[in-house]
Amino acid sequence: MGQPESHKRNDTQPLFIDGKRHTTSETFQSIDPSCNKPLADICKADKQAVHSAVEAGRRAFAKWSTTPPIERSRILLRAVALLRERNDELARIETRDTGKPFSETSTVDIITGADVLEYYANLIASGGLNGETTQLRSDAWLYTTKAPLGVCAGIGAWNYPIQIALWKSAPCLAAGNCMVYKPSEFTPLHGLPLAEIYAEAGVPPGVFNVVQGAGDVGALLTSHPSIAKVSFTGQVSTGCRVASAAAAGMKYVTMELGGKSPCIILPDADLDGAVNGAMMANFFSSGQVCTNGTRVFVPQSMLSAFESRLLEKMSEVRAGDLMDPSTNFGPLVSKVHWEKVAKYIKQGIEVDRAKLLYGGLGAPKLPDSVSKNGFWVKPTAFTNCTDSMIIAREEIFGPVMCILPYADSRPDRIDDLIRRANNTPMGLAAGVFTKNIDLAHRVVARLEAGITWINTWGESPAEMPVGGWKMSGLGVENGRRGLENWVQNKSTLVEMGGSVATVFAKL
Ligand code: NDP
Repeated sequence: MGQPESHKRNDTQPLFIDGKRHTTSETFQSIDPSCNKPLADICKADKQAVHSAVEAGRRAFAKWSTTPPIERSRILLRAVALLRERNDELARIETRDTGKPFSETSTVDIITGADVLEYYANLIASGGLNGETTQLRSDAWLYTTKAPLGVCAGIGAWNYPIQIALWKSAPCLAAGNCMVYKPSEFTPLHGLPLAEIYAEAGVPPGVFNVVQGAGDVGALLTSHPSIAKVSFTGQVSTGCRVASAAAAGMKYVTMELGGKSPCIILPDADLDGAVNGAMMANFFSSGQVCTNGTRVFVPQSMLSAFESRLLEKMSEVRAGDLMDPSTNFGPLVSKVHWEKVAKYIKQGIEVDRAKLLYGGLGAPKLPDSVSKNGFWVKPTAFTNCTDSMIIAREEIFGPVMCILPYADSRPDRIDDLIRRANNTPMGLAAGVFTKNIDLAHRVVARLEAGITWINTWGESPAEMPVGGWKMSGLGVENGRRGLENWVQNKSTLVEMGGSVATVFAKL
């Protein structure tokens, strides 16, 4: 009997350098998180391969950076069409590699990546790279132009592999740069198909290259003298190392890092809306979303109703066969991540002694057809949490909600809530649920976070610039501002009225 399609091994997956597949002798394995079996062998980039990829980018840069924006736009729009045409095929790859249900990858991951590519392709075709003109005097004016940076490195995390690759490469390539992209070693499979889609769309050789491997390959890129910018998505601690390595070469950086975001429910909030928001902010993608609102502040007056409604909704979280359209909860991405999340759940129960409302240690109930060897954890909710608990302070990056009740009778409750919400070194996202829209804006204005929501959670359209405050990052991705992170400014002052040396002429 043959293996089911989902467990078949691929051939060894090569790198993609200078428009061609490129093999190396050393390989590593990509593991299927739903059953802990190898999915594919992947070529690991050595120092020479990283250098070749950067050099290919350098060679391609001269032509790509001077290709008219309208022409670059046409090419990128062809890639958008191919991504949409192959949505389900790419979603199956992402499901196998990440463990996210097909119901999610087929409706979110590729679509939101393609949307951003389409957004930037359209933006550069409609003046998005134009500078400004300023008339200084009747015979003098200045103008600014936006120049691409050169060869840029993209280093991705494992939670939204192809989406992250597209959110980085779309503005990078649209602005006229070239990219060497390194996926996370835990989710490498999207790299080659994406590179081949770009090539098929007409992106010239060397403009988008893929190197594979772990942090050492990322470090080779970050320290390479010909890399002009590093766009990084990952943990705060890694981001600090990457940013300081990049600083040594005065490279531009964009840092999209972790969070411990507050989700504030005010006493007048619609109960269903608030519970749905909190569910979305904690259990989508099995909690492996950087912007998750894991600190859920609930007023004492609403606590019991909130918890009951939450428990009802938890029955709608369905772990199971990842290709079953009704499955909406998958395993965690890797054994090492599973160990980390399980350790936090144990911490919550045994050390922090929060009240376990739902879930806990062990795997969720799974149908017989599903392997029990996958990296499953139960969706978990703790209540009666306090600000000092480790589970309420550190990023868990798994399906673990912390409910922090607050006394809604306190006259200074809004000030106190804002102080508690901001009491974290991170500042990625934040949100508030209330029917009082004036108050919602006042609260949001005081929250120290780069991404905020009112009466919703998680949507991040192409038009919306996203990036963290404080330790959660530097710079933004997406929106008009996102393009600015991939260009450098040149200012030119034009004098038409005479000599520049008038002052000296009088001497
Ligand atoms: P890591 O920081 O572990 O890794 C991120 C990437 O950096 C990986 O490709 C990794 O390689 C690579 N890397 C590791 N060490 C180095 C180094 N010294 N130099 C260069 N590159 C290196 O993050 P995770 O993959 O665990 O991702 C989860 C984190 O990402 C969470 O904290 C989450 O909040 C954050 N995140 C932030 C987002 C945002 O937009 N703000 C979006 C998505 C996730 P490898 O893993 O292959 O070893």
